[in-house]
Amino acid sequence: MSRYETVIGLEVHVELKTQTKLFCRCATSFGAQPNAHTCPVCLGHPGALPVTNEQAVLLALRAALALQCTIPPVTSFDRKNYFYPDSPKAYQISQFAHPIGRNGVVEVAFGRTTERIRIHQVHLEEDAGKLIHEPYRSLVDLNRAGTPLIEIVTEPDLRSAEHAKMFLEQLRDIILYCGVSDGKMEEGSLRCDANVSLRPIGATTLGTKTEIKNMNSFRAVQGGIAYEVARQTALLDRGERVVQQTRRWDEAQSITIAMRSKEQAQDYRYFADPDLGGIALSDQLITQVRDALPELPLAKRQRYEQQYGLSEYDAASLTAHVALTKLFDEAMAHAADAKTVANVLLGDVCAYANAHDAPLSTLPITGAHIAQLAALLAQGTISQPIAKKVLKQTLQTGEAPNDIVATQGLTQIQDSDAIDALVTQVITAHPQSVADVRSGKTQALGFLVGQVMRASQGKANPALVNELLKKRL
Ligand SMILES: [Zn+2]
Repeated sequence: MSRYETVIGLEVHVELKTQTKLFCRCATSFGAQPNAHTCPVCLGHPGALPVTNEQAVLLALRAALALQCTIPPVTSFDRKNYFYPDSPKAYQISQFAHPIGRNGVVEVAFGRTTERIRIHQVHLEEDAGKLIHEPYRSLVDLNRAGTPLIEIVTEPDLRSAEHAKMFLEQLRDIILYCGVSDGKMEEGSLRCDANVSLRPIGATTLGTKTEIKNMNSFRAVQGGIAYEVARQTALLDRGERVVQQTRRWDEAQSITIAMRSKEQAQDYRYFADPDLGGIALSDQLITQVRDALPELPLAKRQRYEQQYGLSEYDAASLTAHVALTKLFDEAMAHAADAKTVANVLLGDVCAYANAHDAPLSTLPITGAHIAQLAALLAQGTISQPIAKKVLKQTLQTGEAPNDIVATQGLTQIQDSDAIDALVTQVITAHPQSVADVRSGKTQALGFLVGQVMRASQGKANPALVNELLKKRL
């Protein structure tokens, strides 16, 4: 048992889903030729004037509201001054005095318990460019310079590496649900730095922290923090002190490496950007954006359990992906049976998407299709094996299950006389199995049921087949 309590705060950068940059009309698309998406504004030419992208402000406001922040009547931009080659203006336009949101909270499920992680603030800022280091030179690509970001800063409320990872995953889900960002860690549209410190259990003041950077996946966030906790624990146990510094997570070696010491806080000499006025956020606008927020993942998960009686596992699986939830909600709008819909989605639909390496959103299936399939099953119109076939065809072609069943004559055979005729055929063809069943070998019954189902091309009602076979034996 450790003698220390771990204290973690996260700084999460989220690239906003806009067509153009924060203060100019350059495209934000990923993967273009270096410096193709630049202009005098984002290159920092003297005299070029920034114009704020309204869409970016609205997305930031939506995120701040989803994180339950207090929104100020006026938000404004400040210059954060520093010199580095990835920033052509020698300052970054960010928010310091009047960020777009403060004092928010995220409810996070850690297994069966839910905790409130406080959000210190959400602010809008522009991204920097990218430096590409080669053996004898470094290159600058400014395509990313000026891309709109929000930085979400938590209070130091997280207590373990695992919780930090779980928090980040659920924060990303909220961001995705709100359509604020595509949240791809591997493409850098979601980035996370962590401040980690330890203190003796029971202490109320914070210990000396280190900041960890370069964690490019959820796994890296957990690994980086866990390593740092172990490193600091060892230092304190030896009676040494933790030095305040910025450290880099090295994925290959699975260690953190010191980058720079932070004994004195850097002075960025923030001041209000004289080229940009304040932005008034009226109560009417705030209400409008808040009312348009979608139901958030945790609330949705709890509702699935309560309203539809789904298991915790099913509810969590369904809400883990926006596309899956969308299909589920669409199907439920057609008054389908929740458990059947959940089974179809989490079973065959997910398996198909995985096998074909196709994101769910690209498949031609709709919630209405799933509802039709569930109804066909519930009414006994089709059997389970036929439902699988029909679903596969819908997934491939986008044809509605009702149409597939009608045009291919797949309706389940409910007529006992018709099934009994098949039973007779099978009994005559497999005398040995019949004898086995009569001598008490029950697994032979399963074989005979299978034979009847096959003879009916999967269309016979399996329950009826079972019943009729038993009667005859
Ligand atoms: Zn530009």
